[in-house]
Amino acid sequence: MSTLTWESPRIAPLVLQSLNRFGWRRVGVDTQSEIDGVAVEALVERYGSPLYVTSEQRLRANIRRIRQAFAAHYPKVIHGWSYKTNYNGAVCSILHQEGSWAEVVSRFEYEKARALGVPGEHIVFNGPNKQRPILERAIAEGALIHVDHADELELIETIGGERHERVPVTLRLNFKTGYSEPWSRFGFNLESGAARAAIKRVKASRHLRINGLHCHIGTFILDPRAYGAAVTTLCALAREIEADGSRLRYLDIGGGLPSNNALQGIYLPPEQATPELDEYAEAICSAFLAGTAYRIEQGEQRPALVFESGRAVIDDAQSLITSVVGRKETADGRPAAILDAGLNALFTALWYDHPVRPASPARGEARDTVLYGPLCMNIDVVRRAVQLPPLAVGDRLVIAPVGAYNTTQSMQFIEYRPAVVLIHGDREVSLIRAAEDLEVVCAPERLPAHLAHAVPATAALADAPGAAGD
Ligand SMILES: *Cc1c(COP(=O)(O)O)cnc(C)c1O
Repeated sequence: MSTLTWESPRIAPLVLQSLNRFGWRRVGVDTQSEIDGVAVEALVERYGSPLYVTSEQRLRANIRRIRQAFAAHYPKVIHGWSYKTNYNGAVCSILHQEGSWAEVVSRFEYEKARALGVPGEHIVFNGPNKQRPILERAIAEGALIHVDHADELELIETIGGERHERVPVTLRLNFKTGYSEPWSRFGFNLESGAARAAIKRVKASRHLRINGLHCHIGTFILDPRAYGAAVTTLCALAREIEADGSRLRYLDIGGGLPSNNALQGIYLPPEQATPELDEYAEAICSAFLAGTAYRIEQGEQRPALVFESGRAVIDDAQSLITSVVGRKETADGRPAAILDAGLNALFTALWYDHPVRPASPARGEARDTVLYGPLCMNIDVVRRAVQLPPLAVGDRLVIAPVGAYNTTQSMQFIEYRPAVVLIHGDREVSLIRAAEDLEVVCAPERLPAHLAHAVPATAALADAPGAAGD
């Protein structure tokens, strides 16, 4: 009797990325030889590879479109630019020129906004780690302080006491919307009673004054109704707070609007998975107008509406050019390429299946290809499977959108961080961050005196113990 050999069961993921709800997506690979009219090859020649390329025109068009979507419903809308999304000085300056305030979450970001010329009154200061020196400065400069927790509230109260004044504070809140995964670690929780306890405490203090309410319900929120629910909750609480005659200057609904990027695990392509911007503006503003109508009934004006969109503003305004440095075949026979940029420069590859376009026309049939980054680290994969024609060493690939959370989260790990350029005017290009080199990376290091000249000058492999002939 013959026996069959037992094979262990295997679970392999289905590759659905070439399917959409209408069946197979059109075959063929998009190429991209230019960015805003400037040749990819010319950019690499001048600035090297890898290279982040920012489009000023796209960035300005994005912020105008988003602002307009809100302004169509309500005029007193303020956009706070989320620095952590992309805090390159040129990017921030463009947005400030367009009228955006700064939304910062650390001492570094606060100092950067001030250094770029943003006045304190136009800085929204969020984040769980605001220590005394920077809080003192922010309070003195009139920044909008968004309180994260009770110890911070106590510290602000102490500073207010020392200054013999009432410090205006905005409370960050978190609560369930019913339409999005609740983020409960930032701010005061509403359901538990922590939020009302904080409100009570502010009202009772001689050194605090309530200025506004804030929430940031999460990021890449795909259901506009989540915002409608959040705004309704904020407005109801504002009304409750104002029952004693106090007045809030603004309500801040945070960021989190999605960009047109391809989240991993989402079946539909981004154009279909992501609702239109107008749907968000409509959901937010109609809930706001209804929720603040009591002010009008009382013969007063509505508070200002602040929003802090990050990724929706910048994501598609930046691309990453990367080059093929070598080719491989995976153990199971699929084509693979090694690129000069990986997770070090494209952190969001952990969440997104970024679209990848070769800069030059295809040389053959597209196949599912693996794209590895340059790091000696197993997880450094840019795409696990992307339809690409056969690649050759030196081929350029354009990866976009990458504008949100990549330059700011890029790490100097193993490789130098790449340069960032801005395309502006009529195909003019400016360097807005130089590529790192040995000097830049090592500048903060200090070598103790007893280690100076510690490396023997003459040692060679042949002299090492165990070398041949030893
Ligand atoms: C990160 C952040 C934002 C921006 O979020 P996006 O999802 O990029 O729009 C806004 N507000 C706060 C408090 C944040 O932490």
